[in-house]
Amino acid sequence: MDQAHPSFKLNNGSAIPAIGLGTWQSSDSQTRDAVEHALQHGYRHIDTAFNYGNEKEVGEGIRASGIPREDIWVTTKLDNPWHHRAQQGLEASLKNLDTGYIDLFLMHFPCSTDPDDPSKHLGDWDFVKTWQEMQKMLDSGKVKNIGVSNFQIRHLERLLNDPSCQVVPAVNQLELHPYNPSTKLLEYCRSKGIHCTAYSCLGGHTTSPINSHTDLASNDVVVRIAEKKGKTPAQVLVKWGLSRGTSMIPKSITPSRIESNFNMAGWALEEHEIAEISGIKTRAKVVGDSWMPIKVFFGDDE
Ligand code: NAP
Repeated sequence: MDQAHPSFKLNNGSAIPAIGLGTWQSSDSQTRDAVEHALQHGYRHIDTAFNYGNEKEVGEGIRASGIPREDIWVTTKLDNPWHHRAQQGLEASLKNLDTGYIDLFLMHFPCSTDPDDPSKHLGDWDFVKTWQEMQKMLDSGKVKNIGVSNFQIRHLERLLNDPSCQVVPAVNQLELHPYNPSTKLLEYCRSKGIHCTAYSCLGGHTTSPINSHTDLASNDVVVRIAEKKGKTPAQVLVKWGLSRGTSMIPKSITPSRIESNFNMAGWALEEHEIAEISGIKTRAKVVGDSWMPIKVFFGDDE
């Protein structure tokens, strides 16, 4: 990996910057400021979603940073109620972002919902049809890469084995951290040429009313290694994720944390330290599926 601008190669030749800024649960002004700060301090990758309600502010932060658009990788996601009108979903995100195009458009979940009642699955629609619509987007130039998120092995098997699947997803964005390592799923994706991006890679927001609480950043093993290296637990977690070949999208609205989470140059974790972190036995997940009309996580891809 090029140390100045580390990236991972995708199955279509694109290069996704290895570290991006997460923006879930960042308010409007927090998002704008965090994106601007991140870009001015070396980030070239921002992760957002229609569902986060802050695509507009991501676009504003990008423009405020002064960094040329073409140097920045923007990921956003098609929300569940838009599966059966994916093209409109794309247009809505583009209008919000005002970035001209999207570098990576992800299907947020393998679950379409009824726009009039998000507690209901859209009966006659499944994600294979959504992917058919997303494949067409590549011809428009409005989307450079398409991928999926929260896809488990059984979802990917169904998608990849369907005759309509002409494009293998470039990326699967997943919850990945030492408490939810999903080694089997990661290996499966690797075998199919699908790059994985790790979300909630710091263990998620510890004070959020939305997601579950994890104490990952205060885990004994992580803290001990961080102290030994003179780094923060968050830095150790980002480094560990990079060592697994996953791009990382830590979220922060705090300027000093935005900077330190990106600061990976000039130091490394030893093999035995990586192994120790990988050996952590605690299991916890930040994002669940109880709020969705169908089950998405099966817990069998460990
Ligand atoms: P995360 O990045 O694991 O953790 C964010 C939390 O860690 C925030 O409370 C943040 O606080 C804190 N933090 C950040 N840097 C820190 C540091 N150096 N020291 C101590 N605390 C630190 O959580 P996440 O937001 O769940 O995941 C990251 C991103 O992944 C999201 O923002 C989103 O872009 C994406 N995501 C995608 C999906 C999906 O379904 N595809 C689901 C969840 C998340 P401050 O902000 O106050 O600094």
